[in-house]
Amino acid sequence: MTEREHEQLRVDLGAYVLGQLPAAETERLEEHLDDCASCTAELAELTPVAGALAALRGSPDRTAPDEPPADLGDRVAGAVGHAARDERRRGWARAAGVATVAAAVAVVAALGVQRLVAEDAPAVPTEAVGVVDRAPGVDATAALVAHTWGVEVKLHASGFAPGDRYRVAVLGTDGERYPAGEFVGTGAREMDCNLNSSVLRDRAAGFEVRDDTGRVVVTSTF
Ligand SMILES: [Zn+2]
Repeated sequence: MTEREHEQLRVDLGAYVLGQLPAAETERLEEHLDDCASCTAELAELTPVAGALAALRGSPDRTAPDEPPADLGDRVAGAVGHAARDERRRGWARAAGVATVAAAVAVVAALGVQRLVAEDAPAVPTEAVGVVDRAPGVDATAALVAHTWGVEVKLHASGFAPGDRYRVAVLGTDGERYPAGEFVGTGAREMDCNLNSSVLRDRAAGFEVRDDTGRVVVTSTF
């Protein structure tokens, strides 16, 4: 085996521990590992990285905000594998080996940080409120968040006419209507829309959604 060929096998280790090495190359690498102490040692160093990635990939879905998608680990591992193969074709064997491992470590670090952030972020207390749908096809639920600067209406809905504009107002206990924002209908597709008002929670009595013509299509009394 030439030094060049050995370097390529070392590069393969990165993709191998990530489960991204094609079968033929996997077989060749495993045969080589049987009698190469240095590659075996390098594999032992890389394996914990791959294990961390696998753990992230296999962990159950959670609903924490800003959580990376469940398949992110797979997609990143795939990208790393492709990058390693591309690099190898260009002949930058040693650089690619280092890059593959560095990328895997960076992925683990990034996902780990995101998970910590997601787990540490306090759950925002929300207050479910009753909603009356006044237009055919509209199906809406809502919850409030009592911010220090005003109440936020988190609207989850479907059935607003696609492309039509809707205006939301929070109704104050003083009888005034306070604008809380606008959105465009999404038809049958469900939408989550957060609408912010300048009314504090203890001065908010409800909210309403009106269509372009001013017709009330959703109401809520807190
Ligand atoms: Zn070797």
